Amino acid sequence: MDRKTKCKALCALTLAAAMSSFVLFSGRLQMTQTVFSPTGRSGSVLVIDPGHGGEDGGAVSVSGVPESGINLSIAIKCDQVAGLFGVPVTLLRTDDVSLAGPEAETLREKKRSDLQRRVEIVNSTESAYLLSIHQNQFTNARYSGAQVFYRPDEPSRLWALETQELLRSSVAPGNDRQAKEIPEEIYLMSHIQCPAILVECGFLSNPEEDALLQTEDYQRRLSIVLIGSYLQEIEQ
Ligand SMILES: [Zn+2]
Repeated sequence: MDRKTKCKALCALTLAAAMSSFVLFSGRLQMTQTVFSPTGRSGSVLVIDPGHGGEDGGAVSVSGVPESGINLSIAIKCDQVAGLFGVPVTLLRTDDVSLAGPEAETLREKKRSDLQRRVEIVNSTESAYLLSIHQNQFTNARYSGAQVFYRPDEPSRLWALETQELLRSSVAPGNDRQAKEIPEEIYLMSHIQCPAILVECGFLSNPEEDALLQTEDYQRRLSIVLIGSYLQEIEQ
């Protein structure tokens, strides 16, 4: 990220932080209500995907909390912050549910059907950008830190680099993880056609990070960074 880009990103972040503090703390505004709408937006739609849901809770934290709920809390806060900027958002789920169709019976079928539905929504959204929110887990509890993965195309790569850098500079200065191309076997990412990043917000296998990821304050900070970097991306 060059200096000018960094400056613009930090401006977007500062503004996002100020506006979101107002909304999130005042409690008077509804989700996605716009109080500020800058000009020059690209007409793009941010599709926010809170990973997992329903029977599929995803990774389970060391304190016994499934990632699906943490993903949803962060996604809802992203939606609130995005609303302040007049950024159109589609949230793929707003509750602890699966998007699987009624024909799916086994958990495996439900997971596949759920992902197919998510793909359909993303691919039927014009000028979509996909932000997929997940939590990480590893057998060794000492690993921590958010990491951004990207679909293998240039806009996604640049968006991921910006997001990783803003996470490091604004949320966790000690996080030296690098943005990485997403493995091909991730179904959602290999079946969509728009720029996309998947953010593993932290490690649920690390007790300190698990506790942090469950706080409103940290979730809010993450959401401000995620929307700040998206704003930066679509303004390029
Ligand atoms: Zn996950």
